[in-house]
Amino acid sequence: MSTGTPSSPPQIDTSKAHPARVYDWLLGGKDNYPVDEAVGEKLPPEARDAARQNRRFMQRAAAWLAGQGVDQFLDIGTGIPTEPNLHQIVQGIVPSAKVVYTDNDPIVLRHAEALLVSSPEGATDYIAADVRSPGDIIRHARGVLDFERPIGLSLIALMHFLPDDQDPLGIVGELRAALPSGSYLVLSHAASDLHSELAEQVTAEYARAGIRLGFRTRAQVARFFDGLDLVEPGLVTAPQWYRTPPAPTPEDSGIYAGVARLP
Ligand code: SAH
Repeated sequence: MSTGTPSSPPQIDTSKAHPARVYDWLLGGKDNYPVDEAVGEKLPPEARDAARQNRRFMQRAAAWLAGQGVDQFLDIGTGIPTEPNLHQIVQGIVPSAKVVYTDNDPIVLRHAEALLVSSPEGATDYIAADVRSPGDIIRHARGVLDFERPIGLSLIALMHFLPDDQDPLGIVGELRAALPSGSYLVLSHAASDLHSELAEQVTAEYARAGIRLGFRTRAQVARFFDGLDLVEPGLVTAPQWYRTPPAPTPEDSGIYAGVARLP
């Protein structure tokens, strides 16, 4: 595990809301503070549905990738552990799977032990890092994963925390460029063009709490997948992704989700 300063415990700032902790509150978790709960309480109830739908997409996508034989994963923006975590899903299918987790929030680092309980055959690793330094993450991941073989890169409910001035497309491009052919990009993202009034309300509440969001249209989210082969059913809402058979009454959602293969 890389912590930057291994000897000092991560400092948790309870005076302002943090994305990982608000998301934990939305999922019904206990690893959040009154300041996070205050944000969550002001969000429309649909935000809780979105968090749950997103987490379930992560679970289905991870299981699907492991079923394709992918046994190495780089998960950026991991969040506070919420069972089942990605490694529990993929190692349940491929026990020797290796997972590198990354988040920039000190609270996730504090809970990293839960992410590091690997199957005996596999491995898990955690690096405290910011996706805006993709080179650092890749350098670390090279020490754990074999970059000559396919890797599943998951950026799940992460990129909407990077408004356009932070070059989200450039960052994803740099991460993609490091991966070998046959790797996969798994990405979910809050929509600005589905339920746009709710999206604006959510963006405004986060902004009041000091958290900038960049929700995007379907066309803007599709750009993260430019040049890749989206697997069925393509870029859809989170509850629609890879349901067989499709749900008779599709659940309403404001989250886009897709999985694509790198040629
Ligand atoms: N991927 C998980 C958690 C999503 S919540 C899931 O889908 O269930 C978004 C996570 O991204 C939070 O844990 C937050 O701390 C992290 N995050 C936000 N900005 C980040 C950044 N610049 N670098 C790394 N992680 C970031």
